[in-house]
Amino acid sequence: MKKTEQLYEGKAKKVYCTDSPDLLIVEYKDDATAFNGLKKGSIAGKGVINNQMSNRLMERLEKAGIPTHFVEELNERETVVKKVSIVPLEVIIRNISAGSFSKKYGVEEGIVFQQPTIEFSYKNDDLGDPLLNDYHALALNLATAEEIETIKNYAFRINDVLKAFWSECGITLVDFKLEFGKTSDGTIILADEISPDTCRLWDSVTKEKLDKDRFRRDMGGVEDAYSEVMNRLMNHK
Ligand code: ADP
Ligand code: UDP
Repeated sequence: MKKTEQLYEGKAKKVYCTDSPDLLIVEYKDDATAFNGLKKGSIAGKGVINNQMSNRLMERLEKAGIPTHFVEELNERETVVKKVSIVPLEVIIRNISAGSFSKKYGVEEGIVFQQPTIEFSYKNDDLGDPLLNDYHALALNLATAEEIETIKNYAFRINDVLKAFWSECGITLVDFKLEFGKTSDGTIILADEISPDTCRLWDSVTKEKLDKDRFRRDMGGVEDAYSEVMNRLMNHK
């Protein structure tokens, strides 16, 4: 598989075309941003960790019957994925209050919900990824009603698989963001990445934050946190 022209450079990854029209190569960078690009920095080794972690998790999801874009890991930072047309929705599942949920609704972080919540944001940097509901997504033609149903079903199933897996690693899955896309034949599959950039992961015992919040909130120990999560994943039998 060979890279051809660069299709896109995002905040955390570069995306390349390949000699196959249905496949892309993503390259994970160490660049980190927060607050819609307002805060910029770098996390040494993040690209390597996020690439490998996302691939291992997507392999697990495939085994559990969730279709994903993962095809083949090429090297530490690069992976072949199925090319999709991204559904411009950030799909956020929460098991525990944190981040924007706590801020918006005025509740402390760490409240364990009876059942997970789901929310959508319109994936649009110029508008600051505004929150929207199913009806808004339909009105804006971002997806069909059937696609939204499929996405919701997958998102909750993904939560069940990931929550159980991280729990076995001594990590609590607080919340996370997913992106889905459509292949050329219209099938909805999971795309983008699953990593400490896109999930809140807390040590189950100490509640220590092991994710990008350490970068967002200038807590220090960012690289160590990413390495710790990766080690726990690799040591899982
Ligand atoms: P951002 O665009 O938010 O800065 P990234 O730096 O992670 O994010 O860039 C990766 C881009 O590639 C994102 O816009 C994401 O939606 C898109 N993407 C992820 N997986 C695929 C895929 N399988 N096919 C096409 N595009 C994808
Ligand atoms: N998230 C993400 N990308 C975004 C926004 C959120 O990956 O553009 C993830 C974030 O890491 C967290 C979850 O989605 O795991 C919920 O984020 P929240 O709405 O609390 O926003 P934040 O306060 O992190 O901006």
